[in-house]
Amino acid sequence: MCRIQLPDRLKTLCAEVKQLSGREVIWKEDADVAGLMGSAIDHDGNPTISYQNFSEAGAAEELMHLKYQLKGFAGLKQKKGSVNRRAQQAATMLQNSAHHFLFYPLLEEWGYNPRQAEAHSTRRQAKAIEENFAQTTVTDSFKAFCAMLYVRSLLDAMDEALVGEVSEFLENRVPEALSMGKKVSETIRNELGSSAAGYRATLDKCLKLMKLEGSYETNDPQAT
Ligand SMILES: [Zn+2]
Repeated sequence: MCRIQLPDRLKTLCAEVKQLSGREVIWKEDADVAGLMGSAIDHDGNPTISYQNFSEAGAAEELMHLKYQLKGFAGLKQKKGSVNRRAQQAATMLQNSAHHFLFYPLLEEWGYNPRQAEAHSTRRQAKAIEENFAQTTVTDSFKAFCAMLYVRSLLDAMDEALVGEVSEFLENRVPEALSMGKKVSETIRNELGSSAAGYRATLDKCLKLMKLEGSYETNDPQAT
């Protein structure tokens, strides 16, 4: 049983997550969660959803992330050694974009509008990058992060105006990130498999395109 009040469709989804993990879903209020809601499989294997602002749409999205992760559409695991914040953000964005590509159409069918929130947060990140660009050192991991801003604008948010804004900025300032972003988008669009193995092969290819293959690898939580 899910302890949080959910509509029937999400109760079913929550029960699926419970069945796949063999554990109850833990819901916890957390003022520090990045974004309004977040989810993870914790060290003990518990599917966990954190929120500072609970919403039904957010719960639907996080339950979907957990379901896919538990089905082997795995997260990215950091390889040994230090990885910087930008690389970490780019890897997380890649994993989320791949998941969103798989389940946003269903969430939309259910009447939610997840793309709006994506557009909002991508626009905020793009603005911050533009405002601080003069003080920024353009490293490979910064390029990977910028490439993901393009991917999210195009595939997650599907917001033409935002794609235009991000493309224009990148074309002028970080052209390599724009071509990287285009290749990653194409790869996700054309090759992301509906099987867990196909999904991981696609993510591996994207990591390579973003020059992150030395820092991250795909990880099957069921196998560890
Ligand atoms: Zn998401």
